[in-house]
Amino acid sequence: MPRCSALIPCRSPSPVRADLHTHTTASDGRLSPPGLVEKAALRGIERLSITDHDTVAAYPLARIAAQRLGVALLPGVELSVQVDDRDIHLLAYGFDLANPALATALEAYRRKRVERAEAIVDRLAGLGHRLRLERVHYHAKGEVVGRPHIAKAMLEAGLVSTFGEAFDRFLGTTAPAYEPKTDPPASEMLALVHAAGGVTVLAHPGIALDETIAAMLVADGLDGVEVVHPAHDPMAERRWAAFAARHDLLTTGGSDYHGFGTFADDSFGRYAPDPAWVARLLGAVAHPDVSV
Ligand code: AMP
Ligand code: ZN
Ligand code: FE
Ligand code: FE
Repeated sequence: MPRCSALIPCRSPSPVRADLHTHTTASDGRLSPPGLVEKAALRGIERLSITDHDTVAAYPLARIAAQRLGVALLPGVELSVQVDDRDIHLLAYGFDLANPALATALEAYRRKRVERAEAIVDRLAGLGHRLRLERVHYHAKGEVVGRPHIAKAMLEAGLVSTFGEAFDRFLGTTAPAYEPKTDPPASEMLALVHAAGGVTVLAHPGIALDETIAAMLVADGLDGVEVVHPAHDPMAERRWAAFAARHDLLTTGGSDYHGFGTFADDSFGRYAPDPAWVARLLGAVAHPDVSV
């Protein structure tokens, strides 16, 4: 007898502790994919999404640990897109991890990141600070090269005395070595994620984002808003929850755990989305679980 049907939901209605926004060494996080899953198990997190920037490379190894430790994994990724000349982060959830068109798009993102890191190293040289590109790649460990890896290489080379100073003096969006990324338009990535069976959520809108931009994304087919995030105060949470309700959008939350820097170590699992939000999200996607 089938355990679930169109009338009987497949998923358990019992509340689940979740963290839906996390990073590993596959992008710019401190913990390896199995290390992060272990941390989730220790913190009592039953549903985890790893949302590395521009890659899903964490999933094969994370999956093995997740099976062993009984943590449910939701496919995820964090994508940078352009909306009206603004650099916006989207979270994609519940898509087919092996979707070829999405894989090609992610590869293009990563290639552009390598070129951008070279441009930033050139800019630093122009400012009189020589940094070996090889050290940047060493800190990146994997395929996704980001400004945090450049900051680490600068720290290692003694060009700055703290990680934060690297951003303040050189790498921040208004600093002299900053090189913008040329990201695809939001509509393009929304379509790719939808075609792969997933949904898209506007990441941390409380960080300098106005509702006009968010409404443009909704018009393009955005599915949800990240309401709970360490950068959101209670007012931001209320504001974005209201925005989501007005547009009938999904709502999510997570710690944006990197293991260092802005969102400190103990943030992990502390920004849990409402279990009802998680249930609704899982019901809206074609691939709620990393297949076994
Ligand atoms: P990228 O993807 O290369 O543009 O780098 C973005 C990442 O850099 C973010 O996910 C943060 O982890 C980190 N970051 C951005 N701005 C700052 C800052 N002002 N201080 C520390 N870390 C930052
Ligand atoms: Zn990051
Ligand atoms: Fe982000
Ligand atoms: Fe993030």
